[in-house]
Amino acid sequence: MTDDDAFRREIRDWLAAELTDEVRGTGGVGRENQAFGQRLAFTRRLAAAGWSTLAWPVAHGGRGASLSQQVIFHEEYARAGAPSRVDHIGTTMVGPTLIDLGTPEQQRRFLPALAAVEELWCQGYSEPGAGSDLAGVTTRARLDGDRWVLTGQKVWTSLAHVADWCFVLARTAPAPAGGPRSAGLSYLLVPMRQPGITVRPIRQLTGDSEFNEVFFDDAVTEAGLVVGEPGQGWRVAMATLAYERGAATVGQQIGFQRDLDDLVAVARSTGATADPVLRERLTRAWLDLTVLRTHTLRVLREPPPAASSVIKLLWTRWRQGLGELAMDVLAHGDADPAAVQRWQTYFLFSRADTIYGGSNEIQRGIVAERVLGLPRQARG
Ligand SMILES: Cc1cc2nc3c(=O)[nH]c(=O)nc-3n(C[C@H](O)[C@H](O)[C@H](O)COP(=O)(O)OP(=O)(O)OC[C@H]3O[C@@H](n4cnc5c(N)ncnc54)[C@H](O)[C@@H]3O)c2cc1C
Repeated sequence: MTDDDAFRREIRDWLAAELTDEVRGTGGVGRENQAFGQRLAFTRRLAAAGWSTLAWPVAHGGRGASLSQQVIFHEEYARAGAPSRVDHIGTTMVGPTLIDLGTPEQQRRFLPALAAVEELWCQGYSEPGAGSDLAGVTTRARLDGDRWVLTGQKVWTSLAHVADWCFVLARTAPAPAGGPRSAGLSYLLVPMRQPGITVRPIRQLTGDSEFNEVFFDDAVTEAGLVVGEPGQGWRVAMATLAYERGAATVGQQIGFQRDLDDLVAVARSTGATADPVLRERLTRAWLDLTVLRTHTLRVLREPPPAASSVIKLLWTRWRQGLGELAMDVLAHGDADPAAVQRWQTYFLFSRADTIYGGSNEIQRGIVAERVLGLPRQARG
């Protein structure tokens, strides 16, 4: 048995022992609030067993797992139908950022609680006037003695309603005349539960509220909770985005396979499989997913330029396509009401896939510049 086989056996055994029906299959696309307390408890058990910080270096409390072990973990996790995790923003975004760019003091303060999923995080980048054009953020922070004082507004802040901390991109100095607009921005770690912060949930197309508006009215954080030098937070903010993707993509695609299998089952139940057009579209969805998975596994080890942009463009198109196909399958006959509800949420939420994490227009811009070598787009 190879080391990887033994590793696969270990995670499989752990999941077989720990995964209960209460959490199996919960969370996921458009269902971030579903069984939240149970999923949090499960994620904490996962953390206690050392699985949630698999990719972190051993020196920082992780397992230092190889890429192939990370892929195996995500494959097994998705195959078992384990719940969607609630620690994603903490363990895959801010944790690795602090490991690479945080001070030893920040690492001591935050990494153990992140690894144990004792503190939940949210990402405070986007604002009403700054999304794709992130350097345009206008939330301000000024140093007042031993603390930063923040004023401004963030928007679309996922999970802010349950988060203990937020990493906030804020302007702490004016951009230098003739210099880049991103200069003068800082990356601050801000406690969410304080009088200066108001979190207002936004009702989504699905009827649920997974993201929020966040208002800072003289909110405070300690002077030492700036990551990187004050005014040089742009580099830190970009580093955080780079950690967001990776081996977890493989697990996501196994989830896609299960979605497709489920839709095929619905199509059988409604008789939609007799429709030649729907049969062809189901088959094409399977083919496209096979190509996507093969491509992802091929480029994961040595990503070519703009690899994560290409993968995002491919998977978002795939998932939106499956949502649209599901609507046509449901229109074919009477499906089980639970299936109707599930696929309507899937269809509606998938509209967001091409917006968050960098919109598809922005991803195509990255491909145009880094792969095709086209001239840089003029920026305002
Ligand atoms: C489900 C969901 C969760 C989110 N979670 C978070 C979160 O937790 N934290 C956070 O900070 N943000 C979050 N966001 C916000 C997300 O990052 C922004 O929505 C995204 O960056 C786009 O910004 P915008 O909405 O302001 O649109 P805009 O930037 O105003 O874009 C509007 C349209 O113009 C297009 N466009 C803009 N610039 C260009 C260009 N240069 N070239 C071509 N086309 C362009 C865009 O592609 C888009 O179609 C979330 C969004 C969604 C939908």
